[in-house]
Amino acid sequence: MRRYRTLVEQLPLVVYVDALDASSSNIFTSEQIEPLLGYSVDEWQTDGGLFVRVLHPDDRDRVIAAHARTHRTHEPLSVEYRLLSRGGHVVWIRDEGVIVYGDDNEPLYLQGYLLDITSEREAQEQLRKQALYDSLTGLANRAFFHEQLEHAVGLRKDPLQQTALLYIDLDEFKGINDQHGHSAGDEVLRTLGERIAGLVRAGDSVARLGGDEFAVLLPIVSEPAEVTAVAERVLARITAPIHVAGREFCVRPSIGIAIGDCSVELLKQADAAMYRAKAESGSDYAFYDDELDRAALDRFRRIGELRRALEEEQFTLAYQEVVGLDPFDVVGMEALLRWQHPELGEVAPLDFIPLAEESGLIVPIGRWVLREACAYAARLRDRVGRDVEIAVNVSARQLQHPDFVEHVEIALDRAALPPHLLTLELTESVLVAAGERVELQLNALKARGVKLALDDFGTGYASLAYLQRLPVDIVKIDRSFTARIDSGPDELALLRGIVGLGKALGLRLVAEGIERVAQQEIVSDLGCDGAQGFHFGKPQPAAAATEAVEDRVATHTAETTRMLPAEPLIAPAE
Ligand code: C2E
Ligand code: MG
Ligand code: MG
Repeated sequence: MRRYRTLVEQLPLVVYVDALDASSSNIFTSEQIEPLLGYSVDEWQTDGGLFVRVLHPDDRDRVIAAHARTHRTHEPLSVEYRLLSRGGHVVWIRDEGVIVYGDDNEPLYLQGYLLDITSEREAQEQLRKQALYDSLTGLANRAFFHEQLEHAVGLRKDPLQQTALLYIDLDEFKGINDQHGHSAGDEVLRTLGERIAGLVRAGDSVARLGGDEFAVLLPIVSEPAEVTAVAERVLARITAPIHVAGREFCVRPSIGIAIGDCSVELLKQADAAMYRAKAESGSDYAFYDDELDRAALDRFRRIGELRRALEEEQFTLAYQEVVGLDPFDVVGMEALLRWQHPELGEVAPLDFIPLAEESGLIVPIGRWVLREACAYAARLRDRVGRDVEIAVNVSARQLQHPDFVEHVEIALDRAALPPHLLTLELTESVLVAAGERVELQLNALKARGVKLALDDFGTGYASLAYLQRLPVDIVKIDRSFTARIDSGPDELALLRGIVGLGKALGLRLVAEGIERVAQQEIVSDLGCDGAQGFHFGKPQPAAAATEAVEDRVATHTAETTRMLPAEPLIAPAE
């Protein structure tokens, strides 16, 4: 017996003997268990629940069932599973056991061994990885992607959410391989893989399905617009020029999109949609769903039109006067963008700016607006012989652009316009979305003398906090607060509150949407510094706007020389 014990203790595994009672109580465990799992032989024998507790939760049911089966049928036990060591490490075990019978052939106990197979398992895992990932791009391969898709569809519970699949196929990629060699082609694919992987959210996955095909899985989407946004980002990132070995490559994809909750259908539909995108001219992406596809196509066309509008100079600026109330005088002009659509005629900014923002086109469009408006302001100044301020509306996307400050400087320099004559109008939503970079940009602009206005004040959120934190000079009170002030005292209370607040913060207040003389009198009495609205002038093309200012300046000069000492432009509030 002693000899056997020495032998057992030298084996590179743990030998055990368990009773065949209901709780499989441990009769013998060899010493090797302690270095393996950190629990002593004594602990195994006295603590009946220890084994179940150290079983990896994912393996627990399976292992208990295997043991129960051996107890019941007396067939040999053979199972692999994970145990958690005292220190929390995962130890992979192969557990082999047989039933030992007595002289009368009655089953006595279960006798077996536990072998540490962790390193074997890790090597297998390594191989599995190799089998799951594409070696060129490091992205999931087709097999793994299908697994991920099934997993995603299986996990989704909320009936309002769905899973989306984007199939991406590069058009005429073969040409790159043929003309420039496979290593250039590989480099292009690697770059594209990185780009796509870099733009998805955590939880989304990207795969290379083979050749020049990629796929993006969005496990949870609430509405098609989310998917469209991803498709457009993918498109923008893929079509941006790729530089390989001193050459520039441009690649265009066709993207097929399916949204649904069945993995098999999704694969088929995304693939079909991809072919549709390839076949249909006018769009680089297509939805499987007809209705979504029509909407996507419209949107895509609109974005294309916007891009062309810039190239073909279909944008114009209308200018609306901003007046000072005490004394009454024209102080400045606000530049308002107009799109002269070749078929639709003039399109209002609210009908195309959101799309320009989403597609990022607002950045080049906004640059144009800045240049054009500054140039106009400089011309107007020369024409009327005095300073006239120019206000330009700016979107969040523009402010987030790292070169925004430079864009503004270039516009001012080219026009030779003094910075203090330029006001940038930002809406509260711009400021809500603002990060650190935006704050830095705003401070840099302020430091150069550019003024900042908070536009449409009162329609957003958290206005107060932003007013205190950001270097705003002017607050433009939204039309909704001035529209009915001449119809009752209730309407006035809010406006009075806003004016009081603005005054307390030392801001210049401009009331928007003044259409009647009664409104003008009220906002003037309340202490607003300036006003804007149809009562003073509608937005109009540059030439007409210039004439209107000339007229006003002429009348004003005549009046002031008659009645008042010459006053400068309305002074900013102290
Ligand atoms: P906003 O900056 O608040 O511009 C004032 C809007 O109110 C203009 O509409 C103007 O025509 C209108 N308005 C002015 N006075 C009155 C009035 O007395 N009564 C009424 N009912 N309306 C009045 P518009 O030109 O359609 O512009 C709408 C918005 O589009 C602007 O609101 C601004 O947020 C945005 N926008 C315009 N141009 C640009 C631009 O170049 N870039 C950006 N990012 N946004 C722009
Ligand atoms: Mg504005
Ligand atoms: Mg406004």
